[in-house]
Amino acid sequence: MAKCSFCNRRAIFYSRVNGKFFCEKHFLKYFDRKVRRTIRKYHMFGKNETIVVAVSGGKDSLSLLHYLSKLSKRAPGWIIKGLLIDEGIAGYREHLIGKFIKTCNELDVEYKIVSFKEEFGYSLDEIVKKGKQLGLPYLPCTYCGVFRRYLLNKESREMGGTVLATAHNLDDVIQTFLMNILNNNWDRVARIGPVSGVITHVRFVRRVKPFFDILEKETTTYSILHSLYPDKNVECPYAPLSFRWYIRKFLNDLEMRNPGIKYSLLNSLVEVLSLLREKYRESDLKTCKICGEPSSQEVCRACMLRRELGIL
Ligand SMILES: [Zn+2]
Ligand SMILES: [Zn+2]
Repeated sequence: MAKCSFCNRRAIFYSRVNGKFFCEKHFLKYFDRKVRRTIRKYHMFGKNETIVVAVSGGKDSLSLLHYLSKLSKRAPGWIIKGLLIDEGIAGYREHLIGKFIKTCNELDVEYKIVSFKEEFGYSLDEIVKKGKQLGLPYLPCTYCGVFRRYLLNKESREMGGTVLATAHNLDDVIQTFLMNILNNNWDRVARIGPVSGVITHVRFVRRVKPFFDILEKETTTYSILHSLYPDKNVECPYAPLSFRWYIRKFLNDLEMRNPGIKYSLLNSLVEVLSLLREKYRESDLKTCKICGEPSSQEVCRACMLRRELGIL
């Protein structure tokens, strides 16, 4: 059994990038230092914040909720709240909702659950079916992503949030980066940084990614150590249909062959972000003519999709 590189205890985590073994205590120390450095480096939080954490109920977002709730004990001006969007995916989300409620209660965190069904009148399953019948060209993840983003902004604002924290980790970020490069969507690359750009729209809630520099296998380890890992390892049934699924596998294979390549890709992103932000300014957000939410177009993507689906 391998020993920790910093003490004599049993190692529970190995970093292929720096060749070090970590025991539970030293892993948590390393994790904490890394996240705090990210938060500081990108000026994610001020002294007084109501931080709404977007939670899916999966390991990453529960870890973020847990981590920030612990960190807030040292920041008296912070209030942490949890927000879960229930898309309505049969056999998938129900289980995670239970885990979310349990964790919020244990951490004594106020929370809110909002569903597609209540908000739009249809669950994601029903929306996907409708889209198919109408012959719309979108994958399930498109509807889900657009409607989730819409609700996260609106609901976190209504919860009094001054900032919305999402649990996107390094793996998520570089997957999105690569997907958008392959699709020549540089305007979207400009928006995947650790913090949202300077946006002055009164209805826009600033977004931050405290796990921006954290590998997925590190959030997994954190979640296991705090019993936040799902009891049943359920994947979203729509995930294997997505482009992200292939990219994720590709990047994991690449990392196996070239340890450290994920960090290298992240650094490439950070390098081009400032240039892209000059080119694609987010500050000129308009107001959607239909729903009044912030939008880059006259009509926001959520309203556009709803119109195409005939559910507006
Ligand atoms: Zn140790
Ligand atoms: Zn709209």
